[in-house]
Amino acid sequence: MPELPEVETIRTFLSPLIIGKQIRRARVTSKRVVEEACRDDISRSLAGKRIRTFQRRGKYLVLGGENFSLLFHLGMSGRLIFMPHATPVVPHTHLVISFSDGSQLHFQDPRAFGRIKLYPFAPGSPRRIPELARLGWDPLEDGITPLSLWQCLQRRKSTIKQSLLDQHLISGIGNIYASEILFRAGIHPLQPSHRLSKARVKRLCQALGETLDEAIRRGGTTILSFRDPEGRRGGFQDHLQVYGRNGQPCPRCRTLIGKEIIAGRSTYFCPRCQRRKRDSTSSASLTGDRVGELGKRLHDFG
Ligand SMILES: [Zn+2]
Repeated sequence: MPELPEVETIRTFLSPLIIGKQIRRARVTSKRVVEEACRDDISRSLAGKRIRTFQRRGKYLVLGGENFSLLFHLGMSGRLIFMPHATPVVPHTHLVISFSDGSQLHFQDPRAFGRIKLYPFAPGSPRRIPELARLGWDPLEDGITPLSLWQCLQRRKSTIKQSLLDQHLISGIGNIYASEILFRAGIHPLQPSHRLSKARVKRLCQALGETLDEAIRRGGTTILSFRDPEGRRGGFQDHLQVYGRNGQPCPRCRTLIGKEIIAGRSTYFCPRCQRRKRDSTSSASLTGDRVGELGKRLHDFG
């Protein structure tokens, strides 16, 4: 499933190709993925409109313009593909947006777990779009301070793996990056969230920023189906430290990497580098640090 780095890769690639373009026609080409209530509105509302913004929050993308916000979730296998010229529709295409210069944007999704929804207002604040209002911090957009994360984790008795996957707490992290972030931070995935010390939450924050930053630099991770809008695979799958590597030696200590199912999801970790600990909440100042490099790139959404 595309996570924050893959969705951000798509946003970065497509933005210069579509922002400023005028929509000539928007055509819903299948009855799946596009919300039923807005299927007719999409063609009626978008014709003639110009795309002003293309934003990401968590794993969502929003195409925005005057009086419209078109929300995309890529689900398991959704892809947004830019076509320089009008191109025949292939199977599993759910929406085709044609621009006045002849280029097109196709949304393809073979497994059809993705979602497209139209709102009749410009994106503005993410709070206006209900799906986005429910999301927690976006690691790129908001920055997360170790202290504020530690305070939130204090109220959670679930495992830290489950907390990382909870989109209401931090948006954009899925199964692949949760395993990678916890390995980098040296935290066992079954560690109860409220038991983590301030010092370890600080390490977690750094690992979160560094992992997502590196994954974005490498164009995301392709396990099965992710492709960028030009059809290229990501590059981060060759740099995964633990995800999908159970039974292979840990890159740090050579202990064999383990796998556990936590809340129905496969979780990979090194039993030696990520020991479970009974943490106290003492020590370590948390002020002043932000999430790695990502914290430096704060900007508003909308
Ligand atoms: Zn190890």
